[in-house]
Formats: sequence, C-alpha cells, structure tokens
Amino acid sequence: MKIICVGRNYSEHARELNNAVPEAPMLFMKPETAVLQEGKPFYYPEFSKNIHYELEIVLRICKTAKCVGKEFAANYYDRIALGLDFTARDLQDQLKSKGHPWEIAKGFDGSAVIGSWLPIDAYKNRNIDFKLLKNGVLAQEGHSDDMIFDFDTLVSYASQFFTLKQGDLIFTGTPAGVGPIQIGDLLEGLLEDKPVLKCQIK
Ligand code: ZN
Repeated sequence: MKIICVGRNYSEHARELNNAVPEAPMLFMKPETAVLQEGKPFYYPEFSKNIHYELEIVLRICKTAKCVGKEFAANYYDRIALGLDFTARDLQDQLKSKGHPWEIAKGFDGSAVIGSWLPIDAYKNRNIDFKLLKNGVLAQEGHSDDMIFDFDTLVSYASQFFTLKQGDLIFTGTPAGVGPIQIGDLLEGLLEDKPVLKCQIK
C-alpha cells in the first residue's frame, strides 16, 4: 500500500507558505508505516520542534489504475475520509532550503492520520466542506471547490506515473490555516459537520 500526497493544491495555502501555485499537481509519497489509524494517539517525535497539522480529504483507490483518463478516474476510488498530513515544518524548511528531498519531514511514523471511511457516492460532483477543530476551536476550514486540481485530475495524473492499487490512498492537499501542534492538543476533523476524525497529541 502506498500513500500519494498532493502539495499546494489550494492557492491560499501555497501563498501562506510563500510557495508558487503549481501548474501541475505536485506529488510526494508517504510509506505504509506512516499510517496512524483513527483513535490512536500521536506521540510527538523528538526530531522536530515544529510539527504542523494539515487537514485533508483522503480518497481510497478501489481497483488497479494505470494511465487512467480523467473522464474515467471516478471509477477508481470508492471511499472518502479526512486525514491529517503531519509535517515536521522545521525539517522540511531546512531540507527545502538546501534543495534536498524532504521525505523525512513528511513520511515519518504516524504522519498520516486516517479518520473513518465513508462511501464516496454522497460526495461526488459537489462541493465538500470540512473543518479542523483544535481543542474545540476552529483551526482550519476547507472547501473542495477551492482545490486547484480536483479528485479526478489527481487520480488521473498520479496514475500516469504510478500504478495505483486497491487500498492505496490519496491525500488531496490542505487548505490554508496550517499550524503547530503541542503535546496535550486534541484534533478533531469534521466532514460536513459530521465528526469523522479524532487525534490526541501525546
Ligand atoms: Zn499536505
């Protein structure tokens, strides 16, 4: 199983980190060991002093996809969840400034929190609102309509390079409002006001 993530898929978020808005989807991956299943706590790692939350819509691939056209892409994912793409921002900034790959800042153990899965049907072809509460206070709010590259474009584009297999995940990018977490924080994700993700920081 692999996790494909999309960077800078909301223009406001690209701007808040002083990044250019991309012309094609910007992909990176996390290994399977990054997955932190819903309800499990996240233990703040020693190698970073600035872990950020990024709340994202996650898609689950349901059958093998290779070089799939955008018009057929919707047949290849069947479930939706919210996820947290935890990012060691301090490590990422150091590595980016040297022009180095930043895998260790993105793919470490527990960096891909996955909430509960819902069938995609009710969420197809319409705007999806989602929110992150940190300790009960609104921290991030996103609307899938604001994505630069939509679900079908992302699945089609990724499948040109990587054969997608059943169970692979696509993190579709974070909206603006990313910020640091601290030990003791409780993060809660809402998909259209339905609580679908919870993560305690320890
Ligand atoms: Zn992200």
